[in-house]
Amino acid sequence: MSDELIIPQGLWTGDYYNEGTGKDDIFDTLKEECGVFGVFNHPEAASLSYYGLHALQHRGEESAGLCVSDGEDFNYHRGMGLVKEVFDRDKLLSLKGDRSIGHVRYSTSGDSRLANAQPLIFKYRDGDLAVATNGNIVNAPRIRHELEQSGSIFQTTSDTEVIAHLIARSSKDFVEAAKDALGQLVGGFAFLLLTNDKLIVASDPHGLRPLTMGRLGDAYLFSSETCAFEVVGAEMVRDIQPGEMLVLDKDGLREERFAAPQRKALCAMEYIYFSRPDSDLNGSNLHSSRKRMGKIMAQESFVDADIVTGVPDSSISAAIGYAEQTGIPYELGLIKNKYTGRTFIQPSQELREQGVKMKLSAVRRVVEGKRVVMIDDSIVRGTTSRRIVNLLREVGATEVHVRITSPPFKNPCFYGIDTPDRGDLIASYKTIEEICREINADSLQFLSPEGLIQAVGGDSSSEYKGGLCMACFDNDYPTRTDFDGEEKFGCSC
Ligand code: SF4
Repeated sequence: MSDELIIPQGLWTGDYYNEGTGKDDIFDTLKEECGVFGVFNHPEAASLSYYGLHALQHRGEESAGLCVSDGEDFNYHRGMGLVKEVFDRDKLLSLKGDRSIGHVRYSTSGDSRLANAQPLIFKYRDGDLAVATNGNIVNAPRIRHELEQSGSIFQTTSDTEVIAHLIARSSKDFVEAAKDALGQLVGGFAFLLLTNDKLIVASDPHGLRPLTMGRLGDAYLFSSETCAFEVVGAEMVRDIQPGEMLVLDKDGLREERFAAPQRKALCAMEYIYFSRPDSDLNGSNLHSSRKRMGKIMAQESFVDADIVTGVPDSSISAAIGYAEQTGIPYELGLIKNKYTGRTFIQPSQELREQGVKMKLSAVRRVVEGKRVVMIDDSIVRGTTSRRIVNLLREVGATEVHVRITSPPFKNPCFYGIDTPDRGDLIASYKTIEEICREINADSLQFLSPEGLIQAVGGDSSSEYKGGLCMACFDNDYPTRTDFDGEEKFGCSC
């Protein structure tokens, strides 16, 4: 039995200066970890996946990969960089087959290397296996340790590899082995597993990470977000249910389970920030949900002002909602420069401040002499909020009132979102009044948990917390998070 990992030649090992949540980052915003896209039964699987992954680019900009099968052989390509940088026409044409799984990845800088780029590809007893995932397996270090103790040799630092080892060591057929393996994992995850003759699609028992199914003619498509279906002209069918496992092969699609569904806990930050506004989650359009957040925010914490502006891009919908509810005009007081891309150097403090202006500008002629309501989605360390408030003041805002369309972010995420340590989250150690002073705002308010649930169409009377995970706000994690006394948060993709 072999579970050898195939690593392409010419590994790229350079370090990115990462604009994620590291202490030296320009923006201390949260980072989504990954996006997955799968195709079954379409002759242009590689091209469809390219467009699908491109639509999911916001979920991970550091590497992209695609594995295609024609039912007999795997063809795959992975690389560091954006989807459009990793693939060109010739590469896509070489990826022949009617089924595929693809992946875009964001990682912390230490993990940013090609060996961890997905899909991970393995050879095992029954043939080839490719794995793509979005999320984090909380008990992966313990499983990995046990596997290593009994002889497994891991080829990557990605915890995603544990599922391949668990499957490879099972004596059962592939579907049963995958069921057993998935059943051993604790955490938030959406998996795509491809063999030469099967595609398996699975969502964790709480449905923490989004995963949806679409149709395009006779083909089945799977995506972290529905916006990717629009791009390829597919129709959204339904979300993958918590604990569900779909098996696709020559006999069609079979709906199975690897675990009983538990408390539904879809990540609230997908609604607030991560997913694109043209995606639907749980049947609701994200732009509409964010507008409702803004409207409810206005009802909860009205402030008299001359203009409302949103921090682009994720807070624009909520700012429009706040403006509609209050009658205060919505204005483009902040503009994002979309073309700065990643930075490969570690800037000095002075240049870092300049870097904020490279990415975001306040519009003097719109803001000068105005009392501004600034809508943003979250405050992590507080440094970004302070910089943006100061940008508005520098161009002449007379007052800046900050309204955040989430409750205070106090706890790290264990389910695939890159967050700083708890001690670095400003809301974990300062009061709202203290944060307000720290970010140099005239007033600061956060959306209530009840307001958030109402805005996304959740119902607390029929579903616990409206079917949301809100652990980063209230410390109520849907799963165990400590194994062997070691808490492992972030992403294991
Ligand atoms: S802890 Fe927060 S970021 Fe993580 S899954 Fe739950 S809601 Fe999402």
